[in-house]
Amino acid sequence: MLIFDDPAFDEHHQGPGHPESPARLVAVRAALAGRPWIRRRGRPATVEELCTVHAPAYVDAVLATDGRPVVLDPDVSTSAGSVRAARRAAGAALDAADALVRGEPGFVLCRPPGHHATPDRAMGFCIFNNAALAAHRLTGRDGDGARRRVLVFDPDVHHGNGTQDIFWQRDDVLYVSLHRAPFYPGSGAETERGAGPGAGLTVNVELPAGAGDDVVLAAFFERALPAIEDFDPEYCVISAGYDALAGDPLGGMRLSIDGLCRMWAPIVAAVPTMAVLEGGYDPPLLGRAVAATADLLAGDATGRRGPPGVRRQPTAP
Ligand SMILES: [Zn+2]
Repeated sequence: MLIFDDPAFDEHHQGPGHPESPARLVAVRAALAGRPWIRRRGRPATVEELCTVHAPAYVDAVLATDGRPVVLDPDVSTSAGSVRAARRAAGAALDAADALVRGEPGFVLCRPPGHHATPDRAMGFCIFNNAALAAHRLTGRDGDGARRRVLVFDPDVHHGNGTQDIFWQRDDVLYVSLHRAPFYPGSGAETERGAGPGAGLTVNVELPAGAGDDVVLAAFFERALPAIEDFDPEYCVISAGYDALAGDPLGGMRLSIDGLCRMWAPIVAAVPTMAVLEGGYDPPLLGRAVAATADLLAGDATGRRGPPGVRRQPTAP
């Protein structure tokens, strides 16, 4: 398994006391120390790559702020190193997608996170939508011409409005989110189901504040997993959020690490899967939880026989 990480991610600061802080990755690195996985750096995503899911005018506007602190959104303040970090996070997610096609699963330990970033707006601590960039890459739409079916599974406590927007009308990406509702950013009603060719391929599962393993797992197995099985994805990107865990300072939920792993497990066992870090704001808890889910991802990779696509035959070209 590959671990994508980059010192540039530590140069993104949203201000003193902000929960999306460099301390998060410091804790994750400590928790993963000793795991025998291959470490890879990020690399700057190209403008062309960023424009596969973002509007060119938005990409230009963000890149023009490189090297100076700005306020991109009420919830996205940057520092001198933020654009460099965001661009390398996106590049790492794209490289992880390419690696997954070659048969190597990976975990992208990126900052800033991405799932609130819409085609043309930074939101909710997010600048570029790393998971969406990876999912688009995995479809093959701009590459080898394949039209592979890709699942984005998002168990972050917040709805991934940006990812939903990006794939709203796509027939090759299933977006499945479990999130607290009502809660930030206010989207993610179960009536939001996609449109046009993407009708039915957005699945939102709303959870009440304070929900624990019993409520969350029942929702996952009764409503999310059947939709995933119907779609029969060839690849999966997990928008790896950990802020639904009990003890997270922002999430207000009671999911256990074991409960989170029980949602990842059937997906990882059935579909070649990569993970991209999203939320999770108690650093020691985040470290323990990333380690547990990364072990799961790596364990299945070790046991997998043959290249990806063996279990799920790719769509004929
Ligand atoms: Zn979140």
